[in-house]
Amino acid sequence: MRRRVLVTGGAGFLGSHLCERLLNEGHDVICLDNFFTGRKANVLHLLDSPYFELVRHDVINPIMLEVDEIYNLACPASPIHYQFNPIKTIKTSVMGAINMLGLAKRVKAKILQASTSEIYGDPQVHPQREDYWGHVNPIGPRACYDEGKRCAETLFSSYHIQNRVPIKLLRIFNTYGPNMTADDGRVVSNFIVQALEGKDITIYGEGNQTRSFCFVEDTIDGMVRLMNSPDEFIGPVNIGNPGEFTIKQLAEKIIELTDSSSQLIYEDLPQDDPMQRQPDITLAKEKLGWEPRVSLEEGLLKTIRYFQARK
Ligand code: NAD
Ligand code: UDP
Repeated sequence: MRRRVLVTGGAGFLGSHLCERLLNEGHDVICLDNFFTGRKANVLHLLDSPYFELVRHDVINPIMLEVDEIYNLACPASPIHYQFNPIKTIKTSVMGAINMLGLAKRVKAKILQASTSEIYGDPQVHPQREDYWGHVNPIGPRACYDEGKRCAETLFSSYHIQNRVPIKLLRIFNTYGPNMTADDGRVVSNFIVQALEGKDITIYGEGNQTRSFCFVEDTIDGMVRLMNSPDEFIGPVNIGNPGEFTIKQLAEKIIELTDSSSQLIYEDLPQDDPMQRQPDITLAKEKLGWEPRVSLEEGLLKTIRYFQARK
């Protein structure tokens, strides 16, 4: 059945893939964005569709729309961008959540929150399961993002309990793929751009910290499956690829796949940078029948081709 779907942050990396997927499934899509890190270029190819609307709006302000479902993705996700204006980042997470939950309550829409593995902070439990409460520094440089997202989860949960708003909480682990910007600052885009340009690959710290990288198509599939799951299942649920790699291994893989002459250089490790991260996806498998399908090598090659085509 055709549904009217609002995607906040729809012109960003994940949002643009989600808008495309929802349009392909035959829904009416409203993409809302303030273009802080998102770009019109990401959704340019969708503008011809009569079922797609692009709205410039900041989620810290209320908005009235008639929709059936809301995917709340608005929030910068890269550390350099979310640390650029920490107060704005907290406002986006917290006031954005309040405004979108208020809208969902008024129009009786189902609402999904794009939460994050950063909820777990620098985790002391490995791999991370949804029942782990996390290890977050509340006043560190990452706090504006981590605590903003934690508070958003609290708001979602409270609106669900108090007002019976149908909610879905998705904890997304590091995702990469086409439509990331070259200056996004996240590790996969940084390394690919550096490798393609023959520049030094900037490893922060010794590169022993780990991350688990999920290709965007897989993450979006998990997101849509969660939205479509029975109302009783609200999450939180981890979506991510359990394949865990050190940052140095990632750099070496990208050099190999791009056949680059780039050298590794070592820079200071940012404060509070998590040392390890790997999702336990048992719950997603059980409740959503979801698991990632794209290997790191396959996903990296697709992403490399995207950045090559943009040069
Ligand atoms: P992104 O920066 O590419 O996209 C965020 C989008 O939100 C951008 O289009 C930006 O312009 C928009 N935005 C920011 N502040 C806004 C505001 N106040 N009002 C309206 N729009 C605003 O990042 P992304 O990787 O696409 O992330 C999307 C969502 O998924 C974020 O909420 C992020 O926290 C979450 N997430 C992403 C990852 C990942 O690895 N990509 C991991 C965990 C969680
Ligand atoms: N990183 C790095 N070089 C870069 C960018 C990032 O070594 O040019 C490291 C960063 O310190 C972190 C990991 O890669 O340990 C992932 O960083 P990213 O910003 O992509 O995501 P997050 O830290 O939020 O998981």
